[in-house]
Amino acid sequence: MIGNALAGVRTWQWTAICLGLVGCITVQTASAADCPGHPDALGTSRTLVVDPREHPRIGTMQYAETLPLEDHEVVLTFDDGPLPRNSNQILDILASQCVKATFFTIGRMAQAYPEGVRKLRDAGHSIGTHTQNHPLSMDRMSVERAKQEIDDGIASVKTALGDDAALAPFFRSPGLLRADGVEDYLASQGLQIWSADFLADDWRHVSASRVYDLAIQRLEGKGRGILLLHDIQARTVAALPRILHELKARGYRIVHVVPATSELSATPTEPPQWQLHPPSETVAISHWPKIPNFVYADAGTLPAPSLSDLDWHDGKLPLSEPLDRAKGLVRGVPLPREAPWPRQPWPRQSPLALESAAIALPVPAQSIFEIQEKRRAATQRIAPSSHHAEQTIPTGRETDGVATQTEARDGLVRHDL
Ligand SMILES: [Zn+2]
Repeated sequence: MIGNALAGVRTWQWTAICLGLVGCITVQTASAADCPGHPDALGTSRTLVVDPREHPRIGTMQYAETLPLEDHEVVLTFDDGPLPRNSNQILDILASQCVKATFFTIGRMAQAYPEGVRKLRDAGHSIGTHTQNHPLSMDRMSVERAKQEIDDGIASVKTALGDDAALAPFFRSPGLLRADGVEDYLASQGLQIWSADFLADDWRHVSASRVYDLAIQRLEGKGRGILLLHDIQARTVAALPRILHELKARGYRIVHVVPATSELSATPTEPPQWQLHPPSETVAISHWPKIPNFVYADAGTLPAPSLSDLDWHDGKLPLSEPLDRAKGLVRGVPLPREAPWPRQPWPRQSPLALESAAIALPVPAQSIFEIQEKRRAATQRIAPSSHHAEQTIPTGRETDGVATQTEARDGLVRHDL
């Protein structure tokens, strides 16, 4: 399994060379004017070549580093596919704008819809993996079990592609759940762990309009970064054209990311460029992440939930230990208020004291974290004849029983990033 992962890294080199050459050609020419049939397209402004071994963890939602983007540069990522009905539409929308993205595919989805993975490759997008079964327990399962999830996911996508070289050594953990041992393993395999810089909550029960609003608002708040979306979601299909149109209108540029190899050098960068907010621009960086200046009106009456029971750990992401130590914080400290929650209907802001928030954490409604569907459907996911996107999302039922426990409790299937 380790050998397979390493082989994936090695074989990617040849594709990367080709991509690199294409990139060298297209980087200079890819603009709206060069998108055939779409003179007003957003386009892809440049190709960024990154070395996963030099920067094994990226995405400021959890890590100290993120991609070395310039102001108003955006990297689009799509998770959980492929699911033909919606993923094909995402591909069409991206093609219409000549936009290249990175897709984090699930192994079981690749097994069910191998042609969908090949379409990603044929369209020139970068393809990473997102485990085999999308378990929402990567932060607490054994490292050996996590390795199996990672390796199986890679193997399934390679099989679907029929071409190991087309798979990038990029990995995103389901729910962005992290653990030191798992991250060490990923790094040892030359796999780059992608968190994100901002979300659009497109896996939740929100409207397409809300997805659009969140994507733009959060991007405007940061000025650049990695946007995490889901190509399996109909609301994302509905929101994406407007998002891309608005990105262009506001002067944002799309960056396509490919991995460096022995033959393809990484784009030259300086260390500060890998920090979304370089120290020179952030006087009080030692105080980041800040404690949110809100708590919840009902916080005092509810017990603190188990951190293992919520997709977003009750509003906290599992920050990496190095970042935590660097910031003088303990693991699990709340992130800045702009991420990752939707502003309505939860959490509500209130003037209560910060101390209260630290003592009694709120228990958000389960509906915030889960998408309702029939339990029976959960046992039929991955079926090619499925008529519902959510039915095709593996939950890790077979791997750790976490999803099964949740479903048994309230008849819901957990849905996550
Ligand atoms: Zn996911």
